[in-house]
Parts: sequence; structure tokens; C-alpha cells
Amino acid sequence: MSGTEQNGPLRIFWFCIPAYGHTNPTIEVVRELCRRGHEVRYYSFADFREKIEDAGAVFVPCDGYLPPIDARSERRLRRVSTTEMSVQSFRTTALMDAALAQDVAALRPDLIVSDSACFWGKLTAQKYGLPLVCSTTTFAFNEHSSRYMHYSAAEMADMILGLPRLNRELARLRPLGYHAKSALDIVRDKNDVDTIVYTSALFQPFVETFDPMHFRFVGPSVKAVEPDRAPRPRPRVYVSLGTVINSHPEFYRNCIAALRDEPVDLLISCGLAFDPACLDPLPANVRVEPYVDQMEVLAQTDLFITHCGMNSASEALYMGVPELLYPLTGEQQAVARRVTEMGAGRLLTRAEAESPERIRAVVHDLLLDGGLKRAAEAMRQDFLSCAGPAGAADFIEQRGREARAQS
Ligand code: UDP
Repeated sequence: MSGTEQNGPLRIFWFCIPAYGHTNPTIEVVRELCRRGHEVRYYSFADFREKIEDAGAVFVPCDGYLPPIDARSERRLRRVSTTEMSVQSFRTTALMDAALAQDVAALRPDLIVSDSACFWGKLTAQKYGLPLVCSTTTFAFNEHSSRYMHYSAAEMADMILGLPRLNRELARLRPLGYHAKSALDIVRDKNDVDTIVYTSALFQPFVETFDPMHFRFVGPSVKAVEPDRAPRPRPRVYVSLGTVINSHPEFYRNCIAALRDEPVDLLISCGLAFDPACLDPLPANVRVEPYVDQMEVLAQTDLFITHCGMNSASEALYMGVPELLYPLTGEQQAVARRVTEMGAGRLLTRAEAESPERIRAVVHDLLLDGGLKRAAEAMRQDFLSCAGPAGAADFIEQRGREARAQS
């Protein structure tokens, strides 16, 4: 291979699941790779087309490969059943198989970048022996850090009782050339796989158990927005339960009842599938929106009441905003625990969340807590010192060049 070809633009296939929390952190990395002249073909879904194309990548629509789902599966997915999500992912892998075989043969990518939870991306790399960089938007999870997850009895039952179903799906994939041991084996981060993690080494639990040759903790990959330090007439409290499990009218009502007569401004992002009219009539100091530009909002927020999605929690720390933590799943529990350990947040228990009086008291305490604010600010400084999207792009570029040199 000539020196020019060796250093020429890379062709990267990028795979992600249809989720904002998994797509958003990748966008600035993709923008940087495209700016450097590389070709990124991003296999994703219609909701994300605009931001992917805006970053300069070729958008490849995959909506047609999502398997049809019946009412029972839909109910399970709404409860974020791990088994159901894995079943759907195995089926998507099978449905994409023929199209991906054609693309791999015709376009011969140098490298695959796949979200850590994207079965079809990781399994495609394995099937064709292509180099893989894993893109992990949660903490990196191995046998040590996964101890931070606290699954509920229902989540545990879902996983254990779902095993036979998953084994059947795995068996169906084998004749197509995909040889995974288990859903967990696909999702879990491995020490010998090159992996970008969108958090800092400080925030990652058990960071010492991850091989520094293969893991890059590049920090949150977010839109660069500066916190608004101008004094505000009243503190601002922002509530979001993220983009997936956000239909919690009782919780929103309790937050409104807690703060309606207080000298604070409250903004709730309730999600696109939620009817905000069911919270009417709203007091003058409360605004409810289906979706906001979260980084812009956090720039002007004094306290964030969050479900502890990895992105939301990290974005708030990136802006130096303290958090009141209301986790709903095992993974969110892990994030909540880590924010608490950093001293930048306080857990809201289920019992407290059911009582407007108790929410009011906690919010009041936290708004006056200088230690919490200082800890959030320290996390901001830590995140700002990370390599960021440019560091992630360097890592991908380097791995792509090494793979090309070996081919
Ligand atoms: N988000 C946003 N506006 C909103 C609600 C959410 O921009 O009104 C973004 C948020 O900034 C984050 C992502 O959606 O990047 C949510 O990801 P997270 O991991 O926090 O939670 P999930 O939605 O996956 O539960």
C-alpha cells in the first residue's frame, strides 16, 4: 500500500441504537472526524437524521429493519425490559444482515464504531473480522463497575426469566454467521476492545480495572455552552426524567405542588410522548415543555432534578449544576451513586418524591448548600480537562490507520 493511501481518508461505519442518550454524545466526535476529511456512514434512525447530516456524515436509515412488535412487547419495552430490548436487538441484527453484507462487500470499511449496546454493530464487526471501536455512553461496565447497578426485583426477574427466550434468538443468528455467547457478553465492555467512554477517569467507577491501552475516558461530549454566571432574581430549578421513561405525571405534579408558592422558577421537560395539558392549570412560576435545549437550560439552572441518565447527569456536572437524584432503573442508580460519591448531588427517595412538602424541604436545603455547588464546580473543572471529542477522534483515527497498515 502506498504512503498516500495509508494516510488517506478513512471509511468508517458507525452504528447506534435509536436513543437520544446514545446518539447525542457521538455527534461532536463524528463532526470532528468529518472535518478531518474522513467518511462516516452513520447507520441510524429518522429521528436523528438531521443532527447526523449536520455533523457531516452520510445518514443510512435503518428504521425499516426494526422488527414489528406486538402489544405485549410494546408494554415490556415501555417498562425498559432488558430481555425485550435484547430480543428486539437480535431480530434487528438478522433483518439487517443482507443489506450489511452488501455494504461491507461493496464499500470495505476500514473500521466499525459501534455503540456498546448496539448488537448489530458489534456483531457485524465480529462476523467480518473488521476492527471495532466501541462507543460507550454509560459508564464502562465490567464485573467490578457493574456492582454499582442496583437492579430491582422486577428487573432481576425479567433478566432471569428471559434467558430461554434470548437463547432461542441467539440460536437463530448462528446460521447467519453471528456467534455471540449471550446478550450480556455482547453488551459488557471488554478489556481488549478499543473503547471510548464519554466520561472522565475520575467519574468512572473502578477505573483502575480498565486497560489504559484500550480505554479512553474522553469526558462528556457535549455542545460547548458557557454557564450564565449573571445573578438571577430567583433560583431556577429544572426537572427532566430524560427521553425514555418520562411519563410520570404524579412526580411532575408533586414537583409543581412543592414549588408553586416558592420564590423559584421551575421548568419541566416532560418528554415528547407526554401530554403537558394534564398538568394544567400551571402556576405563573412553572413552565412545562415537551423538549428543551438541555445544555442551554442547564447554563441558567441552579438545581437539576434528574432521573440520572448518564448524559443528563454528566451535562449538569459539566455546567457545574448540583443535582437532586431520582433514579428509576439499575443503570441510573449507578450514576446516582457516583454523583453522590462526588458530593455533587443528593438522592431523592421514593417516599420523599411522593410528598410535595418533603420535595420542597430538600430543594430548599440544596439551593443553600455551598458544598454541593463547589463539588459540582470541581466536576466541571475535571470534565473540562478531558480530551473531549477531538481526543475521541484522535483515538478512532489512530486505530483506523493501524488497521489499514496491517491489512
Ligand atoms: N435532552 C434534551 N432535551 C430534553 C430532554 C433531554 O436535550 O428536553 C437530552 C439530554 O440533554 C441528554 C439526552 O437527551 O443528552 C437524554 O439522555 P440521558 O442519558 O440523560 O437519558 P435517557 O433519555 O437515555 O433516559
